[in-house]
Amino acid sequence: MPTSKSDPPPASAPERFSARTRTNTLIVGAGPAGIAAAITLHRAGRDVTVIDKARFPRDKCCGDGLTTGALRLLDDLGLNPATVPSWKAVSRVQIAGPRGTPIAFDLPGDGGTFAAIARRSELDHALVRHAVSLGITVHEGVTLENLSVGSTTINAHTSAGVVEAEHLIAADGMWSPTRKLLGLTIQGYRGEWHAFRQYFSNVTPAAGNELFVWFEEDLLPGYVWVFPLADGSANVGFGIQRGRGVAIQEMKALWTDLLERPRIRAVLGPNAVAEGRHQAWPIPARLGDLQLHHGRVLFVGDAAAATDPMTGEGIGQALATGIWAADAIVAHQDPEAIAAAYEARLSAGMKKDHRLAQALSNILARPRLAQASVRVASTSAWTRRNFVRWLFEDYPRAVLLTPRRWHRRLFSQPGAYR
Ligand SMILES: Cc1cc2nc3c(=O)[nH]c(=O)nc-3n(C[C@H](O)[C@H](O)[C@H](O)COP(=O)(O)OP(=O)(O)OC[C@H]3O[C@@H](n4cnc5c(N)ncnc54)[C@H](O)[C@@H]3O)c2cc1C
Repeated sequence: MPTSKSDPPPASAPERFSARTRTNTLIVGAGPAGIAAAITLHRAGRDVTVIDKARFPRDKCCGDGLTTGALRLLDDLGLNPATVPSWKAVSRVQIAGPRGTPIAFDLPGDGGTFAAIARRSELDHALVRHAVSLGITVHEGVTLENLSVGSTTINAHTSAGVVEAEHLIAADGMWSPTRKLLGLTIQGYRGEWHAFRQYFSNVTPAAGNELFVWFEEDLLPGYVWVFPLADGSANVGFGIQRGRGVAIQEMKALWTDLLERPRIRAVLGPNAVAEGRHQAWPIPARLGDLQLHHGRVLFVGDAAAATDPMTGEGIGQALATGIWAADAIVAHQDPEAIAAAYEARLSAGMKKDHRLAQALSNILARPRLAQASVRVASTSAWTRRNFVRWLFEDYPRAVLLTPRRWHRRLFSQPGAYR
């Protein structure tokens, strides 16, 4: 399956690593977090090796939604995701409170792309291919199995042999085997959100072109989404916060029920056809509660529980944390200094935003407040435009509370891919 217009050579899987494979930084996981870290280190002249247990293209259960923040970071990393076959830029977002019909929020039409959808199977494959085309070693089908962390090096025991590294970046997702191997998991931890996803073809033109979100009363602060893809299909799903209202075991039955709710069915249309089976996966959103480093190991993306606590979005956060971890390794020698620099960057760039997002999520959990929030956001053309730009992370969630991050073009900067 082609993933971009000019495909570089595929990544490789070694039969076995040679007796002493050495690298400056080993990255476990070739999702967005791992590849962002790899490109950043490679650009700084570091020797980097990436392993992933999967072979790409591999699917990742996801809504496939890309915020302005994610798009700008992909651009910075040198990938134009608009080359991905399923790419669909979005300019209109329809949001419905628990009791209302959807209200349209338009993103700026003349300043580039502020939101887009691209299938993760294709986007992640394109990222891996892009990294390989830059000269980065990516070993697919290689699983991290064990770790021994010394004071000067780490030995990673993989399904293809041992790799010795000075630093390790754990970009290995929600269930982070690295975290597990180091004994750093929180007992019984299963993420803050749990979400279902399924692709549908033959949807209505509205569902194939616009992005829909419904705050259903029984799911709050969770929501149902329909995200459009090229070719007139859509990514459809819903997410709930663990421990509120709906129990995880009830989600499967609820899925069938949600798809038949009139206001959702009307947007999908009578001829919508489900592709394959639905999938479900947890979403970790507690940045700062999980340990972010351990000796020479840094955790990034879902392995750092860095998704947004209000929306469950994590691609932009995965890219950002991957870049910041790599920057810290480039800037410092000593593991403690690297860890401190990484923590400081997360603190300055993300932690306040996540705290605010969590507070807003608590507001959205209450039906009357959720309804009022959508109504207030839609009071004027200005509130509509800026609300949706804020929602799509054109600027950080808590930017108004952090004057340090103010700059003159904060509310007028363009999106990406003009
Ligand atoms: C249903 C759902 C909907 C979502 N919708 C959105 C959305 O619309 N927009 C958004 O921004 N975010 C969304 N998210 C969140 C987003 O999918 C994640 O935050 C994002 O994928 C995190 O990227 P990552 O690189 O940290 O991890 P991942 O993308 O999970 O990559 C981790 C990689 O590690 C590899 N790995 C694991 N174990 C090993 C091992 N032992 N050895 C080697 N490799 C290993 C895996 O194969 C995988 O490739 C959604 C999540 C879910 C569950």
